[in-house]
Amino acid sequence: MTEKHVYSFNDGDGHDKKLLGGKGANLCEMTQIGVNVPPGFVITTRACLDYLEKNALPQGLMESIRGEIDNLEAATGKTFGRGTDPLLVSVRSGSALSMPGMMDTILNLGLNEETLAGLIEQTGDERFVYDAYRRFIQLFGKVVFGIADEHFDEYFEEVKIRVGVKADVGLEADHLREISEKFLAVVRRETGSDFPQDVMSQLQLAVEAVFRSWMGKRAVDYRREFHITPDMANGTAVNICTMVFGNKGDDCATGVGFTRNPGTGENEMFGEYLTNAQGEDVVAGIRTPKPLQSMQEEMPEQYRQLVALRDTLESHYQEVQDYEFTIEKGTLYCLQTRNGKMNATAMVRTSVDMYGEELISRDQALLRVDPELLEQLLHPTLDPDSATTPIATGLPASPGAASGKCVFDADLAEKLGHVGEKVILVREETRPEDIHGFFAAEGILTSRGGKTSHAAVVARGMGKPCVAGAEGIIVDVGLRQAHVGEHILHEGDVITLDGATGMVYLGEIATIPAHFSDELKTLLGWADEIADLKVMANADTPEAARRALDYGAMGIGLCRTERMFNASDRLPIVVDMILANNAEDRTAALDRLLPIQRADFIELFSVMAPNPVTVRLLDPPMHEFLPTEQQLLEQIDMLRLYRNVVRGRQTVLATFNPRIELPKPFDELSEELVNDALIKKERMLKKVRELQEVNPMLGHRGVRLGIAYPEIYAMQIEAILEATVECAQQGLSVRPEIMVPQVITSQELATVKRTIDKLTEQLEEGFGRKLRFKFGTMIETVRACTRASRLAANVEFFSFGTNDLTQAVFSFSREDAENKFLPMYNESGILQDNPFEVLDVNGVGQLIEMAVERGRGEREDLKIGICGEQGGHPESIRFCHYAGLDYVSCSGPRIPIARLAAASAKLREEQFTTSARL
Ligand code: PEP
Ligand code: MG
Repeated sequence: MTEKHVYSFNDGDGHDKKLLGGKGANLCEMTQIGVNVPPGFVITTRACLDYLEKNALPQGLMESIRGEIDNLEAATGKTFGRGTDPLLVSVRSGSALSMPGMMDTILNLGLNEETLAGLIEQTGDERFVYDAYRRFIQLFGKVVFGIADEHFDEYFEEVKIRVGVKADVGLEADHLREISEKFLAVVRRETGSDFPQDVMSQLQLAVEAVFRSWMGKRAVDYRREFHITPDMANGTAVNICTMVFGNKGDDCATGVGFTRNPGTGENEMFGEYLTNAQGEDVVAGIRTPKPLQSMQEEMPEQYRQLVALRDTLESHYQEVQDYEFTIEKGTLYCLQTRNGKMNATAMVRTSVDMYGEELISRDQALLRVDPELLEQLLHPTLDPDSATTPIATGLPASPGAASGKCVFDADLAEKLGHVGEKVILVREETRPEDIHGFFAAEGILTSRGGKTSHAAVVARGMGKPCVAGAEGIIVDVGLRQAHVGEHILHEGDVITLDGATGMVYLGEIATIPAHFSDELKTLLGWADEIADLKVMANADTPEAARRALDYGAMGIGLCRTERMFNASDRLPIVVDMILANNAEDRTAALDRLLPIQRADFIELFSVMAPNPVTVRLLDPPMHEFLPTEQQLLEQIDMLRLYRNVVRGRQTVLATFNPRIELPKPFDELSEELVNDALIKKERMLKKVRELQEVNPMLGHRGVRLGIAYPEIYAMQIEAILEATVECAQQGLSVRPEIMVPQVITSQELATVKRTIDKLTEQLEEGFGRKLRFKFGTMIETVRACTRASRLAANVEFFSFGTNDLTQAVFSFSREDAENKFLPMYNESGILQDNPFEVLDVNGVGQLIEMAVERGRGEREDLKIGICGEQGGHPESIRFCHYAGLDYVSCSGPRIPIARLAAASAKLREEQFTTSARL
């Protein structure tokens, strides 16, 4: 039996998006639940793949299509390619995942010389018919024959100028007939053949073109950018649907709607429509549409139907829907629905609201929000105190604030973006081919189009600020400038957009950090209740700890103590410690550091009490605290020069009256002082040369420092334990955890532990009570993974340092790989992700699992976490849950994302698989 490639909307399975594409599946589903959808059918994604493979349509496909066309004729009473009531169809692409504007659509297919005459006879509306015809010829020419829009636009503009109208509604039937004829001539000129008159040939050519658009550059780029793998969407379906017209008079309209406000999440009618217009007019922003609410007065009955449609869609799909509709002669048709793409604010609010309305469960409320989306809520907004008068105002199309140099085309935006410039893409309106400019831009500004225009929808999906339809701006791409009232914006001038208010400002404006909404707090509270994983912060200072608490951190999973040494009052002492030539001098410097570290820990523990704080003992190679050899050589040269100046000054003084007053700085530094500075710098240079290593990240660092200079670790341990005593005496319940970095063997741990035991004993004697703390190790070397059971015998917790572990497993330098060859590896698909960002489940993950198993085999209650950068990445967190870790630790702003990801990992634990490893 040959495979079924064509499904009527009446019998396609609405759940099979892979086969029917998202759009097709939803058209079937809507038809089957009684929504008024024009009759139609879907050609499957498998037919597309077959076509792409063999470069020919599957056998029998055209016969099946003919059969479905017969059914459409029967259902509508119309005739395809003939008669006075001709059947016209739309041909739309639609893959399993929505890829807005990436593939092709053709409207009004079925028009030819005969049906044109028939339709004029039936409608008596020559203007309407020629308008449909010219649209069809242009779209068909573009999609099927690849004829660029400019060839058509040229004639269209010419007629508009001659007639003296701005918008196409001002054109009469004769003008549109003339335009249609010119368009037919364009096709003839560009292809060497006449426009096809046989409607089945039109249909076949259109289906083939839509299939091919799956492999078009735009679609391929889009899939790469959004990591859409064949597993997620493979091939496009083609939807053939009976045309209904929103441009047959004033009792007709077309529009797009969201079942809730996609910018705020508010439960209200949201969308735009145009009377007497076709769908593409709304999205293309050619005429500025009206808000749906205006329909209440203009077309009350249809508005009532629209409210009913919205309610039906939302309660059926249990998700906010983004739908398209057309009203033809008073009858409302739904042409498409899909899950609404919203910004983070709206996603969070609708989750909490829809749970409150008993539309969805709590689990659904959590799962429908992509954790990464929360990143948007952490974006800054404009500081109201520094906002000045706007130079233009448009529609607040996608919230967030951004500043950058204005750039008038997508190619330049991409170029500048790649070299690290911040740019704002400024266009009259945007089209799908501008997508690369969106990726590179900080924000988008258009002078035409509504909140559902291409610019607005794409920017919202990307979480980038967008101001749309700022009509006061006149963009002149040729001159590379835009007129805004009395201002002229030149390419490269800096502007600021506020996508939440629609304001555009000249220059850069200060921003303030985002704050948590109550809805987000509610949602993350639910997440915490469900998740098994705890979410800790990587934080090194009390201020960072406070911020992390605001983000919902449940403790500190990594305090890198070396970061505490960088303040200007500490660094000189650390340098003295490093320059010390013997243990005695080193201890003297450490004695000065001890009270400083202790005070830091007291504050850190107090801020986090009663949550745990994991303090990692000193890790980086010592040279990181010293200037580079090059810097020192330059400084020494300068000092020598300066010494000569000082000597010259003395010669001057000896020549003149010794009481002569010389201007500053000549009376400040003596030769002795300069000499002291020189000696210090030369000592430093000597030390820098001594410490030099070919590969310092694999060199003398971590616990190896602690073993070589035990007094350094002893000082840090003493500071931690004394801070613990001090806090306990203040009545605080603190839970410090001492962590050793870079461990490879249990002997290293045993050495550090001896110092801890000795100090604990001394302190407990004075304190009179047992000290409560944990001792643990980082697991960031391959050997630590293989020796995990021996290590576990010495510690109470493990923390995977996946930055170093990834470096070790891949043999990629973590310092260089990301700037050198990794982007190339990612682009060419050799590696799917950057393993320093996304945990390499297949390689590093296997070592983690082994270490967990061996560690817990030795010590059942071993606490295990991760503190490398990957600890804040949702898919990596999913693996951590699967691997049985107790916590993840990440930087402050990633904490909300990690909390939601931890809940999502728990809710989807059944679906986790590591099958790709095999
Ligand atoms: C790690 O290696 O993953 C880690 C957290 O330590 P650092 O990045 O400080 O080396
Ligand atoms: Mg490390």
